Amino acid sequence: MSTSIPKVGFVSLGCPKAGSDAERILTQLRAEGYEISGSYGEADLVVVNTCGFIDSAVEESLEAIGEAIAKNGKVIVTGCLGAKSGVVQAAHPSVLAVTGPHALEEVMTAVHAHLPKPHDPYTDLVPPQGIRLTPSHYAYLKISEGCNHRCSFCIIPSMRGDLVSRPIGEVLNEAENLVNAGVSEILVISQDTSAYGVDVKYRPGFWNGRPVKTRMTELCKSLSELGVWVRLHYVYPYPHVDEVIPLMADGLILPYLDVPFQHASPRILKAMKRPASSENNLARINAWREICPDITIRSTFITGFPGETEADFLQLLDFLEEAQLDRVGCFAYSAVDGAAANALPNQVPESLKQERLARFMEVQERISAAKLLSKIGTIQTVLVDEIVEDEDGNFEAIGRTQADAPEIDGVVYLEDAEGLNPGDFVEVKIVDADGHDLWGGPPGA
Ligand code: SF4
Repeated sequence: MSTSIPKVGFVSLGCPKAGSDAERILTQLRAEGYEISGSYGEADLVVVNTCGFIDSAVEESLEAIGEAIAKNGKVIVTGCLGAKSGVVQAAHPSVLAVTGPHALEEVMTAVHAHLPKPHDPYTDLVPPQGIRLTPSHYAYLKISEGCNHRCSFCIIPSMRGDLVSRPIGEVLNEAENLVNAGVSEILVISQDTSAYGVDVKYRPGFWNGRPVKTRMTELCKSLSELGVWVRLHYVYPYPHVDEVIPLMADGLILPYLDVPFQHASPRILKAMKRPASSENNLARINAWREICPDITIRSTFITGFPGETEADFLQLLDFLEEAQLDRVGCFAYSAVDGAAANALPNQVPESLKQERLARFMEVQERISAAKLLSKIGTIQTVLVDEIVEDEDGNFEAIGRTQADAPEIDGVVYLEDAEGLNPGDFVEVKIVDADGHDLWGGPPGA
């Protein structure tokens, strides 16, 4: 170990939820006076935050661990793949420690054991909002960890355990610190946002001296007081979700709901063991739109789940036509090591899964494109994400409307972005659209 400030290298792979874990580890390291090093060579040890959701992520994670061992030698592994410590240790027996996801304390214990913490913690080095991996004007806010469902294609509960909601006071303080540090958009994430507080029976916590229930609606109301964009991800269509739609209609939180429906055939939803599988989703969507006509609904689906017949698939296409969802992702079913669905009968051949995926995307692309075309001529508020300079020295801005979440939805391109900065809100007239993105100009254009 060097005699100066101990330095920790950090590599983070995987989804925003893993990123949120990483932020917490980085914040703690800095709080204790460790320095974060950008290079393997200069670091005294390296923490690798892994992903283990699909086979390619496992490979990528194992490669990253191998690279850290080759270039540094002292490596601690955490994150989803860490839940399968046997796989990590078989591939890389020299790793110092392996912890699962959401294991801040275990990671810190391993770091302390192999790189003792400095005598004089530089707590004042840590900005109150912590250290974020996302651009400074938006931030993910993780409200809970784990999941009480047991969807048959998913191994997250076996890796992350049952639902554990973070105390609402802690969540709201974190959000407030983010806003005080300049964040313009908060993205609420968890495995199941609508279940927030179920594990603690919605018990009240305290924020700014007043009691607030640990519950999605109360969380949304409190977040809306912060005066920034608040976007909800991973919401299941339970009846109580209806309560947040009026908040969207009143402009308190963004009129945006990310609802992973996954399928529309009741038979397949049952085989998937999906939460809220018996709800009438079409009726619910129509009711939401009546209360909040501007609502953007994003969803994800799976084609070729074991047992899916042509009739099930046609039911899915009918649902798409009727639901007219704004943004949709779709994947051909792929077996995940350890998932219960692997043992289901009537697995669908790969070529058929892909064929159905293509048919699905054809229908949805037409719907999404029509939705975007209908925005031409409207005035939209755009949050600027990035400024880029073209080869002629002109500045272009790339931003998003309320209907677009970062990284997964489309963007708005703006010419003549001189004077704009990331994090700015601008009023824009939409002048063009394709199947995914929009182009905008000044409101008077
Ligand atoms: S709701 Fe289902 S898919 Fe989502 S994390 Fe829980 S078990 Fe997995």
